[in-house]
This record gives sequence, structure tokens and C-alpha cells, in this order.
Amino acid sequence: MMVYHKLLKRQLQKYGDESLLENEAFLRFIDAVNDSYLAFDRDRELSEHAFSISQEEFSEINHRLKNEVNIREYSIEKLKETLKSVKTDTGLPDFNSDNLLEIVDILNAEISRRREAEKLLIVAKEEAEKASHAKTDFLSIMSHEIRTPLNAVIGMGHLLLKNDPRPDQVNNLKVLKTSSDNLLVLINDILDFNKIEAGKLDLENAPFSLKKLVTDIVSANTNNSNERENTIKAIIDQKVPELMIGDALRIGQVLNNLVSNAVKFTHKGNIDVSVQVKSLSAKTAVIELAIHDSGVGIAQDKIETIFMPFTQASTSITRQYGGTGLGLAITKKILNLYKSDIEVESEIGKGSKFFFTLELEIVEGNAADLNGDETLDFDLNKKHILLVEDTLFNIVYATQLLEGWNIVVDVAENGAIAVEKMRNEPYDLVLMDLQMPVMDGYTATTKIREFNNDTPIIALTASATSNVREQVLKAGMQDYVTKPFNPDDFYIKLKRYLA
Ligand code: ADP
Repeated sequence: MMVYHKLLKRQLQKYGDESLLENEAFLRFIDAVNDSYLAFDRDRELSEHAFSISQEEFSEINHRLKNEVNIREYSIEKLKETLKSVKTDTGLPDFNSDNLLEIVDILNAEISRRREAEKLLIVAKEEAEKASHAKTDFLSIMSHEIRTPLNAVIGMGHLLLKNDPRPDQVNNLKVLKTSSDNLLVLINDILDFNKIEAGKLDLENAPFSLKKLVTDIVSANTNNSNERENTIKAIIDQKVPELMIGDALRIGQVLNNLVSNAVKFTHKGNIDVSVQVKSLSAKTAVIELAIHDSGVGIAQDKIETIFMPFTQASTSITRQYGGTGLGLAITKKILNLYKSDIEVESEIGKGSKFFFTLELEIVEGNAADLNGDETLDFDLNKKHILLVEDTLFNIVYATQLLEGWNIVVDVAENGAIAVEKMRNEPYDLVLMDLQMPVMDGYTATTKIREFNNDTPIIALTASATSNVREQVLKAGMQDYVTKPFNPDDFYIKLKRYLA
């Protein structure tokens, strides 16, 4: 017999008649009723279960929402706190709203305000750059203007010393010469420093002989060294390659600064300039250059500062030795361009060692291959030169110098006169000033080159800018001499083009 639902069982017991249970049709009916009871129970269970599930989910969602609200409230609090902390220096308005939209508005206003401030900063930066350019230009123009009369002072001093001065004048003339030479060094230092600061100093890459450079610098400092009763010598490693690629002018400047300092700060002592090969490959050499002196030395706490511009180890130094304190600053910057640095070891009273390394490319050949090995015995007798120059001092100086070498000099006061003279007269060489009234040297050269391509033209320039060479070559000149010109270098240049 079938197991009936307990409720149906109870009702059957209460109302059922035994005989009914014998009736087939009734039993089928009761089975169907029983199925309905059971189905109802299952449905109820299911719906109860379903309800309990959504209850759990609901509380879970509720919990998450609460968390989120907490986080949001906390964020708004934080946001407000942060805004308040930046408010003082930005001028944000006072606010105490929890409304995120309001905070967003405030932030937007602040962003626009900052964008404005940024624009102003950019304008200020541009102004500062302009001022810095103006400073650089001013210094270049000033030093150019100073170099021009200085050219005359140095030149006249040179001529007066050469033209048999009275014995009582010799000392005065020497003072004049030393002072004007020093002034030129100072102006050149300021120009160089300026150029390096403006990032305008480019290293030249040409073959040069380091050995010759070092020996030349030692010879150039020997007189001063002797005057201070010092012994100076160069110690050069045999392995140093004959020719390497570099900027002889700048490397020479570094060495000369260090050697002349060593001489200046040493009395009755020794100065050794050593060149050692640290490593050598087929293509490059790493060289250590060291300048060792047994002079006054430098206090430990001053070693850092002496490399700063216009700084000296002590104020008494200027009084005693002169100088500007620019030499080492320039030295350091030039070496930095070579990815190197200057190092120093020093002890007060014992002396100093300044040293650095250079990695240079090696090239085939030797010093004799370079055209620097010229002698001063060439005869310039009766050569005919056209001097194009407008400054009276320079005319007088250059004419005396040239006539001293038996050269016949003709003067043109500006470019236009020079062009006329070139049409009518054959000259062996032209010395061409660049800045002149009426017609400048570049224009005059271009005009001359329209009908004369043979006569060498050498520019005379007081400007030491790095692109001067490029400019004079482009205009059709062969070379240039920087004023104030050193008579020996000037002679060598003339000889090169007149020989
Ligand atoms: P300047 O020589 O014009 O003063 P430098 O920049 O070349 O400028 O040198 C800065 C300072 O460093 C010098 O004034 C000096 O105090 C110190 N100094 C440089 N070289 C030496 C040296 N060989 N011995 C002692 N002191 C030195």
C-alpha cells in the first residue's frame, strides 16, 4: 500500500470508510490527491529556501554598500583635508561641503589657476633666457671692444721694447707688457668661461702631437720658472703616440693653466710635468697628465672651492700672485667636455699634484706631418701687402710691424677702398679687418673674389667666436689672425701665404 502524505492519512482515518479503500477508482483519486499534497510541500520548501537565499544575498549587498559608503565618506574627508592643507599657498576658497561635485568645481578652478601660473612661469623663463643671452652678448661685445685698443697697447709695447729703448725705460716697458699681457689673459678667460657657460665651446678634432704640446708649454713657462728660481721639466713616456686626435688649443689651455699655477705657487722648488700612458689599444690611448710642484700647497678645506669661478684659496693670493680664480674653473669645464675630471692631491708647505686622464684616438704619422714646424727665417723683403683696417692704432701697429719685416704696406680704411685698390694694383696678400664702416670685410672679400681669385686674403679679427673660421672661409678668405696678434704667430701666417 502506498505511503500517503501525513495530512491525507489523518483525514482518511477520520472520514474514510474501509470499503472505499477497496474501490479502484477512489484509490486512483486518492493517489492523485496524495501527489498534490506532496507537490505542495515541495513547492513550499523550495519557496522557503529561495526566500532564505535572497535574505543572505540582501544582507551581503547591504554590507557591501555600507562599506562603500564608508569608504566614500572617508575619501571625501581625506579630499577635504588635503584641499585644506594646500589651500594656504594656492588661495583655494573656504569650503566645507561633502558634495563631490562642488569639490570637483573647486578643483577645476584650481587647475585653471595653475595653468595660468604655468604660462606666467614660461614667460618668466623666456625673459630670464633672454637676459642671459643679453649678458653673453654684452660680454662678447665688451671684450671685443676691449681687445681692439688692447691690441694697440700690446703692439706698441712690443714695438717700443724692440726699438732700442733707453735703459731707464726698459723696466717700465716690461711692466706695460706684462700688465697688458695679463689683461689679455683675463679677457680671454672671461670670454672662454662665458662661452663654456653658454654651452658654446665646441672641441675641435684634429691630429696633434701631445709630446710637442707638452714640451712647448714647458718651454713657454721656463722663463717665469727661472725667475722664481724653480726647475721645471717634462717627463714623457716613450709609449705616448706621436699623433692623436684632439683639440690642441683647449688641451694646451688646460696644461698651461696648471703649469703656470704650479710655477706661480712655487719658489725655489721643482715642477714636473709628466705624461704617462695608462693603457693603449690599436685605436685609442688613455693618457695621464700630471703637474707636480713642490710649492705652497693648498689647505684640505679649500681643495673643493678652488675649482669654483672667481675663487682663490686665500684672499692674500690675489695681492701676492694676482689672477682671477677663473683658470681652474675653465680647466675643469674643458676636461668635463672630454668626459674627464681634474684631480688634486696637496699638502700645505709640501706642494701639489694636479692630474687628469684623457682618452684620445690615435692616428698614423708624426709631428713633422703637421704644418706647425715653421721657422722664423723667411725673407718677406719687398712683399706688397694691402692692409684693410679702420682703427688708427691698428694701422700704426700693423704697419710698423710689417715694415719691420721690410714689407711694403698700403692701407685702405674700409672695404670699398680696398676693392678699388685691388682693381688697380697687384698685391701679394691682403690683410682684411672684418668690422669696418662703409663696407665690411666679408662684403669686400666677396666683391674682390668676383675678379681676383689668386691673392690670399687673411682676416684680422678681434672676435674669438668659434664659427669665425667657417665664416671667413665661406666669404672666400684663406685664413684669419686674431687680434691682438702675437708677432711671431703673425709672421708664421704671413710666411705660409707669401712663400
Ligand atoms: P688664479 O690662478 O687666477 O687665482 P685658478 O683658478 O687657476 O685662479 O686657481 C685658483 C686658486 O687655486 C689659486 O688662487 C690658488 O689659491 C689655488 N691654486 C691653484 N693651483 C695651485 C698650486 N699649484 N699650488 C697652490 N695653490 C694653487
